Amino acid sequence: MSSVADRVLLLGGTTEASEFTRRLRAEQPEVDLVVSFAGRTTERGALPEGVLSRVGGFGGVDGLTEYLRAQGFCAVVDATHPFAARMPFHAGAAALATGTPLLRLIRPPWLPKPEDRWIDVTDMAAAAEAVARCGGRRVFLTIGRQEVGAFASIPSATFVVRAIEPPAIASTMAAEVILARGPFALDDELALLREHRIDLMVSKNSGGEATGAKIEAARQLGLPIVMVARPAAPDGTTVSSVDAALSWLAEVPARTVAR
Ligand code: NAP
Repeated sequence: MSSVADRVLLLGGTTEASEFTRRLRAEQPEVDLVVSFAGRTTERGALPEGVLSRVGGFGGVDGLTEYLRAQGFCAVVDATHPFAARMPFHAGAAALATGTPLLRLIRPPWLPKPEDRWIDVTDMAAAAEAVARCGGRRVFLTIGRQEVGAFASIPSATFVVRAIEPPAIASTMAAEVILARGPFALDDELALLREHRIDLMVSKNSGGEATGAKIEAARQLGLPIVMVARPAAPDGTTVSSVDAALSWLAEVPARTVAR
């Protein structure tokens, strides 16, 4: 029997999850790693050789609990997105039910600098209200594709919507869609904001470098950002770097869960 965790479930779909996968595979190739994807995007980056994957929901807390029991994971690393509102709670409940050590790996949020003009809101409905209230006329929506509908009834604004895959755009909404996947460079973000004459940005406070250039670009151009706060997160052990996650894993004993 190995003395350290040798079978790990990673809840993936983020830059941090990809980095964790690459590092764990390179540094501890003996660990059996299964990466789980929700399946929201049709294209996923290739996994390193030897890493297994699965795609799709588990079927709520009960489904994940059953999966953890059947698969005998030593640990679960939840590296889902900071705006994944449900999966972290499901992981917490299933880990508790099965006695599986659980770690959340979540990148730090962006923090405003004194010169920033952030309008802080708690959710997408409040973001839409803020856009209407501020009178933004050319609005850059960088919120992913799932919640664009919240902005469907603001006739005064024209939207530039950037997403990885096509969002559904209501017929009431004046919008141009840009399909692109980060990372984005500062010069390109500045050019995009200028070219589209953007006067207001809407962003989730996802944090991270891959999409952080838009925040700096808005800062340099003096643009206001309607900044949507992260959803509530469950209690539990949390780290913000892949290094810290690997250190945590190194302390988890093998087979704390009976197969
Ligand atoms: P969510 O509300 O937390 O999850 C909804 C449901 O999707 C979960 O209850 C679970 O279904 C399934 N699911 C989520 N992550 C999964 C994973 N890694 N493996 C298997 N099933 C998973 O999250 P969401 O906002 O819909 O996001 C879905 C996925 O996209 C997450 O993995 C997240 O990391 C990624 N993502 C989200 C955002 C965002 O802004 N929300 C941005 C980038 C990437 P069951 O209950 O059936 O198990």
